[in-house]
Amino acid sequence: MVYDVIVVGAGAAGMLCAGYLAQDGREVLLIEKKDNPGRKLRITGKGRCNITNKSSVKDHLDNIQPKAKFLKSAYNKFFVDDIIAFFESQGLTIKEERGARIFPESDNAQEIVDALHKFCIENNVSIKLNTNIISISKDQDIFTLKDSSDNNYRCQNLVIATGGCSYPVTGSTGDGQRFAKSMGHTINELKPGLVPFNTKGDLAQRMQGISLKNVTASIWHNNKKIYEEFGEMMFTHFGVTGPIILSLSNKVADLPIGELELRVDLKPALDHNKLDERILRDFNEHGKKKFESILKLLLPNKMIAVCSQELKIPLDTIVNQITANQRKALRLWLKNLTFPLHSVRSFKEAIITIGGLSTNEIDKNTFESKIIPNLYFCGEVIDLHANTGGYNLQIAFSTGFCVAQGIKTKHNIS
Ligand SMILES: Cc1cc2nc3c(=O)[nH]c(=O)nc-3n(C[C@H](O)[C@H](O)[C@H](O)COP(=O)(O)OP(=O)(O)OC[C@H]3O[C@@H](n4cnc5c(N)ncnc54)[C@H](O)[C@@H]3O)c2cc1C
Repeated sequence: MVYDVIVVGAGAAGMLCAGYLAQDGREVLLIEKKDNPGRKLRITGKGRCNITNKSSVKDHLDNIQPKAKFLKSAYNKFFVDDIIAFFESQGLTIKEERGARIFPESDNAQEIVDALHKFCIENNVSIKLNTNIISISKDQDIFTLKDSSDNNYRCQNLVIATGGCSYPVTGSTGDGQRFAKSMGHTINELKPGLVPFNTKGDLAQRMQGISLKNVTASIWHNNKKIYEEFGEMMFTHFGVTGPIILSLSNKVADLPIGELELRVDLKPALDHNKLDERILRDFNEHGKKKFESILKLLLPNKMIAVCSQELKIPLDTIVNQITANQRKALRLWLKNLTFPLHSVRSFKEAIITIGGLSTNEIDKNTFESKIIPNLYFCGEVIDLHANTGGYNLQIAFSTGFCVAQGIKTKHNIS
């Protein structure tokens, strides 16, 4: 049989798109590689799913790269209130948290997956799981999709919603980008985004497991500060991770990572003079005690031994015996804890994919290919990516909706 529409990929974009498409009774087939839909959605927001961000279109676009304006008309058609209303209409209760981030009240991402899945089933979308599409061709007006077991599927309209390349274990392995390329489209270079850094040396490793809150992390190139973020980060067996590190990784994606330095300011609320005054006061008050007791006032316990080793001031040194130069070295360590960067971690640990299908080759209202008629793209397969905060899923939902609306309008389906 020839389906009206086949949607490849039962993720955030694909499920929303398929459900809306089938609302009017059209034959829609949704094909998914994995044995369950929404594998990635299930792990979003640490299992809680940060659905979107309750802020303005401008705020969303400010958080999106590289051509955020491309999404303007999609966001005018389907935005934050629409996706919230959608999930509420599916019986979910939605809540807003710090930073305008929106979550299901249950804190359970599976609820989001189930709601999208139910939406598809109730609208009679045919769903085929465990089906890995490996090639796509178009002859006359019909697309033919072949799966890894040599089965063929045919349709008049094809939607590619196969996601990016990050967390490949969830099923997104860059297949859609390969299909698009095989059909003559431009794929902008694919890179891991929102991803931890490997650092050079072993300083970070020696502090692995330590989490820092309210610190400033900045990226330096040729001794010049280029980006800065304030918040939480963590040391690991390979280097650094955590919210501010992931945000910084997106900003430096086009720079030579091995030439960059990460500097952590452990005391961002105090400038150098104020911190010097504070350290001097502590030294005066605890002159007869050991250096360790000063460090306890300034650092998390687990960092104390490393700080003493790095500064070459033994922990049992009596505070009165510490020189002015050593005191200065301590201040600089606290304000400028430096980690030369080696590289970013792989797609396996990246939250999103930078790069993808060039937005120059798709229509900004319907996301239909300008090269192959009746071929549509939605979600992370397109070269659009965002910061953390719910912005990435909004891209998937808005583009998924607009593709459905675009196909319905083009084929006069009300
Ligand atoms: C750990 C983690 C946490 C995240 N948390 C958040 C968050 O809280 N908020 C947020 O906004 N964003 C978050 N993101 C990003 C967000 O999950 C993605 O941007 C979003 O899921 C993209 O949706 P999509 O539908 O384009 O792709 P996906 O959700 O990846 O879905 C694509 C689907 O296509 C299927 N597929 C791929 N190739 C084929 C093929 N050849 N044949 C058949 N099926 C195929 C895949 O199996 C998959 O199910 C997170 C990402 C990760 C990895």
